[in-house]
Amino acid sequence: MFPTDGKTGENAVRIHKLEDLLNWARLSSLWPLSFGLACCAIEMMATYASSYDLDRFGVLPRASPRQSDVMIVAGTVTFKMADRIRRLYEQMAEPRYVISMGSCSNCGGPYWEHGYHVVKGVDRIIPVDIYVPGCPPRPEALIGGIFQLQEKIANPKNIAPVAIEQLLAKNTAQSFPDKDSATQS
Ligand code: SF4
Repeated sequence: MFPTDGKTGENAVRIHKLEDLLNWARLSSLWPLSFGLACCAIEMMATYASSYDLDRFGVLPRASPRQSDVMIVAGTVTFKMADRIRRLYEQMAEPRYVISMGSCSNCGGPYWEHGYHVVKGVDRIIPVDIYVPGCPPRPEALIGGIFQLQEKIANPKNIAPVAIEQLLAKNTAQSFPDKDSATQS
């Protein structure tokens, strides 16, 4: 049932765009692909377990990328695994989202400087929607990341905020000043 405002049922029928309804359904049933890469995966598993119980948010891990719409990259992304991660991402259903969990996945973590075998951020191989900082992040942090993703799905404008669009337009105008002056003349 689509959420309503009133407790007495006066707002039981509400009119929305179909896109809003679909987004609400998506954010209420996020199904992450169940796989882990390193120590952050232990925290991810703890988040799924009974103490934190991600099921209550409709977050259920699936064993197949075909049935998943969220990839939680939990752990160190080595060059050896990079191809596999990319392939799994491409096998996931659209629309698909990615949460990067932990410093290793965000930027290489403790392997940033000398880890010749580590990709310095999973966003170099797949697009990332939400970054969860920490080494490792606690379960509360991952839950916070999932809430952020739900908010992003509910408000697609957050994907390209107005402020960023204005900044891009300003930078473009500065980079190509002749174009503006030609338009004015
Ligand atoms: S960020 Fe820290 S806890 Fe997570 S995989 Fe890397 S080293 Fe392990």
